[in-house]
Amino acid sequence: MRLTRYFLPVLKETPSEAQIVSHRLMLRAGMIKQASAGIYSWLPLGYRMLRRIEQIVHEEQIRAGHLPMLMPTIQSADLWRESGRYDAYGAEMLRITDRHDRDMLFTPTAEELITDIFRSHVASYKDLPLTMYQIQWKFRDEIRPRFGVMRGREFLMKDGYNFDLTKEDALHAYNRHLVSYLRTYERMGLQAIPMRADSGPIGGDDTHEFLVLAETGESEVFYDAEITELKFGDRQIDYDDHAQCRAVLEEFTSRYARTDETHDADLFAQIPEDRQRVARGIEVGQIFYFGTKYSEPMGAMVDDGQGGRVPVHMGSHGIGVSRLLGAIIEASHDDNGIIWPEGVTPFHAGIVNLKQGDAACDAACEGLYAAMTAAGLEPLYDDREERAGAKFATMDLIGLPWRITVGPRGLAGGKVELTSRRTGEAEEMTPDAAVARLAEIYAPHKAALI
Ligand code: ATP
Ligand code: MG
Repeated sequence: MRLTRYFLPVLKETPSEAQIVSHRLMLRAGMIKQASAGIYSWLPLGYRMLRRIEQIVHEEQIRAGHLPMLMPTIQSADLWRESGRYDAYGAEMLRITDRHDRDMLFTPTAEELITDIFRSHVASYKDLPLTMYQIQWKFRDEIRPRFGVMRGREFLMKDGYNFDLTKEDALHAYNRHLVSYLRTYERMGLQAIPMRADSGPIGGDDTHEFLVLAETGESEVFYDAEITELKFGDRQIDYDDHAQCRAVLEEFTSRYARTDETHDADLFAQIPEDRQRVARGIEVGQIFYFGTKYSEPMGAMVDDGQGGRVPVHMGSHGIGVSRLLGAIIEASHDDNGIIWPEGVTPFHAGIVNLKQGDAACDAACEGLYAAMTAAGLEPLYDDREERAGAKFATMDLIGLPWRITVGPRGLAGGKVELTSRRTGEAEEMTPDAAVARLAEIYAPHKAALI
């Protein structure tokens, strides 16, 4: 992409309405624009990042054997009356009346609709296990929308639903989700700690929330410091293997880690004092096992192969896709702007032309652009007639992990400069070497073929 052809409305001033750094930086970097309270337009750079995050979520869900699908945002109230949640959900649900006076709503979550699909089409244990998910917009009329995309009213969520014959199978689905989530967040450069949580209006017994530690987080969390040393890494998991998934769950949840809702001061006091941590966290996901809470009242039954008909065991599993943008920025920025992790960045590197219009500089930049593209990398070429300082400031603000700087002095010796956004370290090398280095850096982050 060439910056002269892009739409990147960066702001010089710090917007006064933004209280936390991720919100400020997303506005300043021209990623989002508020349309009304808690509702945002996603401008090209923000939308590009949203799609990157979606892509990783899709890849990891599909890897775990879950099927992507899509349900509507506007639903009839009827199904919600069946489950009893139409009244229970309260003022957070946006209720709509259509021209025929029918009660509709903008979906805050989709247990009812998916259970209806299930009961219409699945009648036998032979079709189980089954897990389907979607990445779809949700609406919750939050009493205090704030912090930009962190607590919006309209937000993008991955919501997945598992259907299993037995509790044991459904708990395997729970464990499998926990494992796939660990891997998902790590690919985004985040450490998201699974913590025992409270189930809220979704209902159910077993639930973990995934929290990214950050001072601006809305949840108070209590944990054993040892937990922050755990890494998922590049372990290969057979998601059908119950024992393997359970072992990972046990590894990542055996130490104390709870939100304030489930915090137990006596248990916490048993951790050696130097390892006790009280901090704040951003909830980026949650998994639930809730058994037959929806399948029973809604009649989602299957033939159990032994002459009986039983309600299926279910769970639901959410990832805050749009909130993740804010969480990544909260976890990774400096005074000059965002620092995207290599696993999830809108462009792989910026190309800064220090002397636009100079034949040698222009040609070198074009050459780099073509070579990067040929190597499967996406550059953002700042081809504006601008001062070097302004170009560097824009690149730092939007946070691409790498920058290639092309100037007449370096080029005289056949060199360009490759600079790391995170460390600021710069190295001179030939344009070919810079592209080869980037290809090597990004090799582990190549999107899997799905
Ligand atoms: P919270 O406690 O933050 O209100 P929740 O527990 O009600 O969230 P879930 O039903 O678990 O939310 O939804 C799954 C995920 O969707 C959450 O883990 C969170 O990352 C994201 N999410 C929930 N509400 C919002 C919101 N208002 N804005 C952005 N993301 C949200
Ligand atoms: Mg939650």
